[in-house]
Amino acid sequence: MKAITVEPKKPGTVRYEEIPEPDAREGSILVEAIAASVCGTDIEIAEGKYGWAPPGKTRLVLGHESLGRVIDPGPNNSFKKGDLVSGLVRRPDPVPCPNCAVGESDMCRNGRYTERGIKEIHGFMSERWRIEPEFAVKIDPALGILGVLLEPTTVIAKALEQVLAVGQRSFWEPKTVLVTGAGPIGLLAAAVARLPGLEVHVLDRVESGPKPELVRALGATYHTGSVLDIGFEPDVIVECTGVGSVIADSIRQVAAGGVVCLTGVGAGGTAPRATADMAAAAVLKNNVIVGSVNANKRHWYKANERLGRLDRTWLSRLITRYEKPENFKQALERKPDDIKVVIQFGEV
Ligand SMILES: [Zn+2]
Repeated sequence: MKAITVEPKKPGTVRYEEIPEPDAREGSILVEAIAASVCGTDIEIAEGKYGWAPPGKTRLVLGHESLGRVIDPGPNNSFKKGDLVSGLVRRPDPVPCPNCAVGESDMCRNGRYTERGIKEIHGFMSERWRIEPEFAVKIDPALGILGVLLEPTTVIAKALEQVLAVGQRSFWEPKTVLVTGAGPIGLLAAAVARLPGLEVHVLDRVESGPKPELVRALGATYHTGSVLDIGFEPDVIVECTGVGSVIADSIRQVAAGGVVCLTGVGAGGTAPRATADMAAAAVLKNNVIVGSVNANKRHWYKANERLGRLDRTWLSRLITRYEKPENFKQALERKPDDIKVVIQFGEV
């Protein structure tokens, strides 16, 4: 079969090449790939900045945002041939740490977890892949290709759960949410936050292209410019840019008692604000700044439920480009009007 593979930490090594059929140890369910979407992590791995091949191997099959169709459910009887599925990304560490031991590998303490298509296990950008029944999630067939958006939605389901969990330390009924960054994660965060009727605002640097209209279509408000100029103090800020100045401004702008949830992974930059000033703002307003990454099976369940309730026409507009696997180079390039790029292996 063919797969999109890479030699991690070596830029320019991505290939669409023939590899052996998936190893039976990767799970008893055999799946034919329909689609895999591309995220920033895939691009970083392709650029040689991140990623680990399986032990004893030099190359890694890319891809962690999956959609496929079961072709052989194996001995497990909760899946059947033809089911649409997506696969959880993270696997617990072998020790395991207390969190992995209780099914919260997203909160792994020792960093020895593994991840499909990222860290030491092959990903989903291959014509066929295998999955363990306990790490497979059934997708509503009515979602069709949009099921590939489940994995990014799980990141949001966890982040919002974290926000509500820490908010419960005091009397707190959040009404306003600001999302910084209108990429796929930010737009999905805005859409999911709209479901219970929260007032949602999205801030991004672009003034044209599809993002402003996608935000307005949710009944949310689109902002450009500085977080400090949005004109109100949000109860919740979901930070999806990873940009130092946006993070610093978010901590300054969040309402008293509010929560800033950091989901973006950035690096470097110059200190835009003295750390002690930011900390003082957080102290004097009882703020919580919480980091959130990955998702466990509970969040996959929640995300599946939320995704099913979102408007399908709106969701389809998040996928701005479909590419064939042989065009992996274009798929792994960032283009100005891209929101989500999907590599399509087969028809739904
Ligand atoms: Zn662990």
